[in-house]
Amino acid sequence: MAREALTASAQDELRQKLRAGNLPDALLTPGRQVVLRTGDRKITRDALRADAESVAGGLHESGVKPGDRVAIYAANSLDWVVAYLGVQRAGACAVMINPDYHSAEAEHILRDSEPVLVLTDSPRAATVLKLGFKVVQFEDLPGGLTPPMPPLDAESPAAILYTSGTTGRPKGALLDHGNLLAQGRGALEVWRWTAQDTLVHALPLFHLHGLGMGLHGTLLSGGSAVLVPFTPENVVHELTHGGTMFFGVPSMYQRLCEWLDQNPADLSRVRVFVCGSAPLPPALFERCAKLLGQAPVERYGITEGGIVVTNPCDGPRQPGRVGYPFPGVEVKLGERDEVLLKGGQVFKGYWRNPEATREAFTDDGFFRTGDVGEIGEDGSLAIRGRIKELIITGGFNVYPREVELVLEAHPAVHEVAVAGVPSERWGEEVTAFVVPSGSQPLVESELIAFAQERLASYKCPKRVVKLDKLPRNAMGKVQRALLVR
Ligand code: AMP
Repeated sequence: MAREALTASAQDELRQKLRAGNLPDALLTPGRQVVLRTGDRKITRDALRADAESVAGGLHESGVKPGDRVAIYAANSLDWVVAYLGVQRAGACAVMINPDYHSAEAEHILRDSEPVLVLTDSPRAATVLKLGFKVVQFEDLPGGLTPPMPPLDAESPAAILYTSGTTGRPKGALLDHGNLLAQGRGALEVWRWTAQDTLVHALPLFHLHGLGMGLHGTLLSGGSAVLVPFTPENVVHELTHGGTMFFGVPSMYQRLCEWLDQNPADLSRVRVFVCGSAPLPPALFERCAKLLGQAPVERYGITEGGIVVTNPCDGPRQPGRVGYPFPGVEVKLGERDEVLLKGGQVFKGYWRNPEATREAFTDDGFFRTGDVGEIGEDGSLAIRGRIKELIITGGFNVYPREVELVLEAHPAVHEVAVAGVPSERWGEEVTAFVVPSGSQPLVESELIAFAQERLASYKCPKRVVKLDKLPRNAMGKVQRALLVR
């Protein structure tokens, strides 16, 4: 791929450079300019640093030591950011919990990571207390004298991010300071992020896309961000009032397009739209190009490996392809065309799970993503789906994404997810779960015939199930296990 043109030693040098330092030194830089805004609250770089140092002081005085785990279980807010940066400044390891998680889901993460303290907003405090963990609510965040800088380096643990657990219990991916710095610095380079930029940040902070790219990138770039709850109105408002960048997942772009269709806006001042975490359908790519004034830059990543592949910011953006590796990242295909990753961004292992860690790496040290890829002649990567989503029907292998791409092109289809439903006759039966577009009637036999004109017959759906909407997680990923249940 394009970056493989670098010699091995140049790659290593680049990786070292991207990983150098530690998060608090790199993120908490002084400055009198506003760095974050949300609603009518604003904070300058100097004030953010002072607040983080004060929280770190309070944590230090209450006995939190470098390397201890401190969990954060709360919705996006400025307090979330201050709490997180305080944890980093204290040298502790931040455990991220999806604020939408209910008690049983949060319990798994808390029991697995054993934090010394859980920082929460008020709606979640009672849940954590009932589970028997020590809680501090954001409004009572401890303050204290700035503690000495802990001895942190690139290898020090920085955060545990749990996988979404679509195929089993979530596993904790342990990321070190070097991993997160390499990711943030890589993002600055590939998306030409500068101090002139203002990111419209509407992604969950607990997830790598919102944290490692959105928050860390903003702090590293010298620019600023505005944190908004995602609604098309909020995002368009900010993008027409100074926002220069937006990061989203495909379902957000879908809603933005629906809104802009009815409420056209001039977004020509926006420098770049980035999309990832789930496949961006080619039809949506085209619709965005028309309604946003430019197609989003599609990128690919995974919690354990970072956001590591992207379409070019300056060059042509290809629908259906996720582009080229970030600086210092190697990408290749392994057995069954599995996408394999190596680089300073890639984690070293799962939290207290040596067996899963062993299985996650090849003998030559590449991380197995579990995604099936294809590398084109131009060296760009396309994602064909997850290995575990493979449908085996009558002894043949079918990748759902290939079938979805065909069905998405039918005018009666608004959205579609394909999954294998257990069947005595076929083992698994290819089934299309369709949200109708409403612009023409959705007729099962017609849609199947449409697929049969374009795909080998074993890949075609045997059944079409109509749904009002597809079940998706916080990052817009379709939860196939819920479809076939
Ligand atoms: P997560 O660890 O939650 O970020 O999920 C990572 C998974 O999301 C990857 O292994 C892919 O299956 C999927 N993914 C991320 N970005 C894309 C993309 N641009 N296109 C297709 N799948 C993606």
